Amino acid sequence: MEKFLPDIYQKSIYTIDYSKLLNHGIKCLLFDLDNTIAPPNTRQVSQKTKDLFISLKQKGFKVIIFSNSLKFRVKHYQKQLDVDAYSNARKPFSGKFQKVMKDYGYNITELAIIGDQLLTDIKGGNKIGITTILVNPISKKDHIYAKITRKIENRIMNKMHENNIFSKGKYYD
Ligand SMILES: [Mg+2]
Repeated sequence: MEKFLPDIYQKSIYTIDYSKLLNHGIKCLLFDLDNTIAPPNTRQVSQKTKDLFISLKQKGFKVIIFSNSLKFRVKHYQKQLDVDAYSNARKPFSGKFQKVMKDYGYNITELAIIGDQLLTDIKGGNKIGITTILVNPISKKDHIYAKITRKIENRIMNKMHENNIFSKGKYYD
């Protein structure tokens, strides 16, 4: 069950203490796209998101969109937010995580993944040993594939709750 447990759990990408991450040696932030940065099935990019990404880059982070979505969708956000991006990331598989480390020369202590799904973002990040940050999904709407994993995720969350290691809405960092 620990493989699903995030290192940090926050309400949204706006409540994460990024300065603390910097102090802990995190240099590169991998952001999930759907339901982490933006609702699925839209192309909206809010000013709030743009401002956050500008401030993160100013703080000195390398910011990368790291999404299982297709290239055309990821590309749109990559342009709007002016960051690097990986599409078809195939989280929770390790391949593209390792590609990022190879492409940029980061080691596991310098990377964090921020996402809304235990089964993809958190499991994938924990598997290779980087810092994992769970946020609540922006929208209740999910892609079809995410609807299935969301049910499994609820079961895992309930199990973690029973074991007193995680409770929905009890944020920590
Ligand atoms: Mg997501």
